[in-house]
Amino acid sequence: MSSTSVEDRYDVIIVGAGLAGCAAAQALARADPQHRRSILVVDLHRGVSPRFSGEFIHPRGAEVLDELGFYGRLISAGAVDVDGFVVMENAEHDAPVVLDYAAIPGERSRGISVHHKTLVRVLRRTICEREQVTLREGWRVTDLLRQGAGQSTGQSTGQSSGAITGVVLRDREGVEHRVSCDLVIGADGKASSVRKLAGIPDRRETLGFTAGIEVTDARLSQPLHANVILGGPGPMLCYPITRGAEGLSFRLTFDLPHALPAKGRELSDYLIDAFVPYLPGPLADQVAAALAERRGQLELAPTFNLPAPPATAPGLALVGDAAGCSHPITASGMTMGLLDAKYLAREARRRAGARVGTPWLDDRSLRRYRLEHDRYVPTRQALADSIFEAFRGEGEGARGIRRALFSYWRSGERQRVRSLALLACAERRPRIFLAEYLKTAHHVLHSSLAPRHASHYPVSDRLRQVHGAVGLAGTKVGVVAQVAWSQLRVF
Ligand SMILES: Cc1cc2nc3c(=O)[nH]c(=O)nc-3n(C[C@H](O)[C@H](O)[C@H](O)COP(=O)(O)OP(=O)(O)OC[C@H]3O[C@@H](n4cnc5c(N)ncnc54)[C@H](O)[C@@H]3O)c2cc1C
Repeated sequence: MSSTSVEDRYDVIIVGAGLAGCAAAQALARADPQHRRSILVVDLHRGVSPRFSGEFIHPRGAEVLDELGFYGRLISAGAVDVDGFVVMENAEHDAPVVLDYAAIPGERSRGISVHHKTLVRVLRRTICEREQVTLREGWRVTDLLRQGAGQSTGQSTGQSSGAITGVVLRDREGVEHRVSCDLVIGADGKASSVRKLAGIPDRRETLGFTAGIEVTDARLSQPLHANVILGGPGPMLCYPITRGAEGLSFRLTFDLPHALPAKGRELSDYLIDAFVPYLPGPLADQVAAALAERRGQLELAPTFNLPAPPATAPGLALVGDAAGCSHPITASGMTMGLLDAKYLAREARRRAGARVGTPWLDDRSLRRYRLEHDRYVPTRQALADSIFEAFRGEGEGARGIRRALFSYWRSGERQRVRSLALLACAERRPRIFLAEYLKTAHHVLHSSLAPRHASHYPVSDRLRQVHGAVGLAGTKVGVVAQVAWSQLRVF
């Protein structure tokens, strides 16, 4: 078949060939050992999407990349094995808190970090080797086909109308193709057109922006960890992304508010003045020089919070960011997308022997996928939300939680391991998240009210902090109750 055409029908059509779409394609192809199925993957970008995106992947995600046969290829392409997180509350004065993946019992000891464009390029190249997979780049989905109705209007109320039975695609020349299938997988990111066309409501809110630059050979004492550096107007994150002949190159990101404090050239000046002084000394000099000389290109990406919308509808599954995303501070979005691919493929394997002509993944498979998805995604969202609040430290409550979080981490190895297990998506039970969160809130109460700890703060400050912390903890109880409810729900 020519690279500009498609068949009239496939078993599965995946919209979006980013991390989640490629992982889903590879996982499904591997779940079909007899090569009886066909999978079409389309992406609107001819090459890799130019948008600056995630790069640091927890051990759980690295494990899925390994199971899918991507890991070795990524390492050959320059990806770096990474060891965990280092969190610096005050880089100049306090010892950092080190959170090592290797300390989590039963977990793979290292994650992986890789330049996002390299990641997607390697994944796309790999899926094209699968006999069942057809990839079309430069093609976009413009509508969905539905049972009975033929086609959605794009305004449909979605879930109440007929099952989704295919897509309308526009190719590179602007020609439309109607292609049918048993299952559409929406892997088209947080602004998912598939989700909208299916009429699945969402509560997406813009949080702000992340700016990033590349720094060669960043001078860090723990270069194989993601270094979270606090103190400035927002958290900074520095981690390796490429191992080359000349050494390691790193990404440094700055968290910025929605109303950008400056634009263009002035943004670099703002970062030098407002953020760089909080970096550890040697790195600060390197970054200031890179920003001043515009050596590293400054990239900017908006950040969003998208509380998990329903991840399935008849004939449709959402994966990756299309099925929920959070602020990137916990670096967990890609691990979520990889877990989605893994659990969809588990359902596909269960039905590997299903008669051709009957759907590969049926309604029951989709129900089971959604149940699994609803176990890990909301817990991670509640965590990302809390960590973002604490690390940003806006308001007394958040500052109190941040101070307590550090003292909790410094109180013992066990405490650090439990927090990291949550952060790395190795621990996904919402009640454990709530227990950890309440322990931190308890620390705030204790350190704000117990005279031994608090005597050097004015009473009014201590009360404001306690009030804020109680308010934040109350919000989390609500979030966790929602998570627990979603897991009990009978579909
Ligand atoms: C600044 C930043 C830093 C981050 N850092 C991390 C990190 O360190 N670790 C981590 O785990 N996560 C991180 N994330 C999150 C991570 O980038 C995402 O979770 C991940 O990229 C989601 O992958 P995806 O495949 O679901 O979506 P995307 O990567 O958005 O891919 C969607 C694909 O769909 C295509 N598409 C869109 N619309 C259509 C259409 N109509 N038709 C056809 N194709 C379409 C797009 O071209 C794109 O290729 C970060 C995010 C940001 C913004």
